Amino acid sequence: MFPRADHLCWGAEKHGIFSVKSAYRLLSNLRDQVQLRASLSRSHSWEEIPPSVWKRIWGYKTLPKIKSFLWKCCAQGVPTRDNLTKRQIHVDPGCIRCGGSAETIDHLLLDCPFARATWFDSNLSFIVPSHTSLKLSHILWIWKEYNFPSKKDEEETLALFFFVCWYLWLARNELVFHQNAQEAQDVFLRAHRAFAEFQQASWAVTPPEPTNTPTVQPQVPPPPGALKLNYDFSATQNSKGVIGFIIRTAEGTPIMGVSEPVTSPSILWGEAQAVLSGLQACVDAHLDNIMLETDNATLAWRLGVGGILRDHNGRSRCCFAYYIGVGSNFRAEIEGLLNGIQQAIRLQVKYLWIESDSAALVSYVDNNSLPWEFQQRWRFYSGYLAKVVWRITHCF
Ligand SMILES: [Zn+2]
Repeated sequence: MFPRADHLCWGAEKHGIFSVKSAYRLLSNLRDQVQLRASLSRSHSWEEIPPSVWKRIWGYKTLPKIKSFLWKCCAQGVPTRDNLTKRQIHVDPGCIRCGGSAETIDHLLLDCPFARATWFDSNLSFIVPSHTSLKLSHILWIWKEYNFPSKKDEEETLALFFFVCWYLWLARNELVFHQNAQEAQDVFLRAHRAFAEFQQASWAVTPPEPTNTPTVQPQVPPPPGALKLNYDFSATQNSKGVIGFIIRTAEGTPIMGVSEPVTSPSILWGEAQAVLSGLQACVDAHLDNIMLETDNATLAWRLGVGGILRDHNGRSRCCFAYYIGVGSNFRAEIEGLLNGIQQAIRLQVKYLWIESDSAALVSYVDNNSLPWEFQQRWRFYSGYLAKVVWRITHCF
C-alpha cells in the first residue's frame, strides 16, 4: 500500500522494537492461556485458574467484602450446597431454586434460570450463553478482551457486574435462611442501588458542566396554590422497610410528614405503598392540586417511554410508546431519545429537530457524555446523525 521496503518488527510492542519486558509478558500470557484451556477441558479446580486471575481480584475497584467473595468463588470456598456435600456435610446438593442442577457457585451466579433472569433484567447487556456452562473465573480471565471506550467504563461495568454477583448470593441466602424468595428484578435493583452509592463515592460522579442549561433538573417548587408530595421507600432486611412522605406548600412550609415501618415483598411494592399512603393522606385531609415528586435518582419506578415525530407542518409522521421496565426517569428520557432517532432513521428524515423536556438530557447530548450503558447505541446512531442536519433543544 505504501512504497516502503519490508522489514522485521516485534509484534508484542506497539513500536515494533524488541524488549525483554514484552517477551516476559508474552510468555506469561501464553502460560496462562495453556493453564486456562486445561482448566476448561477438565473438571473445575481452583488450582488450574491462571495466576493472573487471582492477582487481578485484589486490584478490582469494588468493596473489600466483594473482593473476598470473588476470591472464595474461585477457590470453591463459598458454602454452596455442592461444596458442603463435597465436605461431607449432608445436605441436598441441588439448587434450591430450580432443583435441576447441583448448587455450585457458577450455577448460582450464571447458569441458574433465576440468575439468567437477573442478568436479563440488568442493563449490562450481559446474557449468559445457553450452549455452554460458563465459569466466573473464565469471565474474570476474558474480561480484558471486551473493548471498553475508557478505563472508567471498564471499571464501572465490572463493579456493577460484581455487585450483581454479590446480590445474587445474598438473595440465595435470603431464600435458604429466611424463606424469602426475591424477584430477579428486585435483585438487580438492590445491586444497582448499592453500585450507585459505590459509584458516587468512588468516581465522584458529577454531571458535566452545561453550556447554557442546567445539568440536572433542580427540585422545583409547585405552582402557587399547589402542594408538593415527596415520597420514598427505604428497604432494610427480610422484606422490611420504611416508607415516608412529606407534603409542602409552594413556599416550602411542611404541612404533613409521615414515616412508618412496613413489610414489603419488593422495592417496587414499597415505592407504591409510599405514594399510596401520601395520596391517601391528601384525600383524608381534603388536599387537592398535588404535585408528586420522588428524589430517588437511580431507580424505583415502572417506566413508559413515548414520543412523536411531526413534520414541518405539524403533521404527525409516527409516534411510539412502550413499557421499558424499571429504572430511573433519566433512563426513560434517554430511551425516548434513542427510539425517536431510530424512528427518524426509518423515515429517512434529513432534517431532525429533537425536543426534550429534560434539560439534563440536552446537556448530556451536547457534551456527548451519555451514561456508559447507552454509549454503544449512541455511537450506532451517530453515523446517521453525522449525515443529517440535526439539533436538540430543551422544551418545557
Ligand atoms: Zn438453579
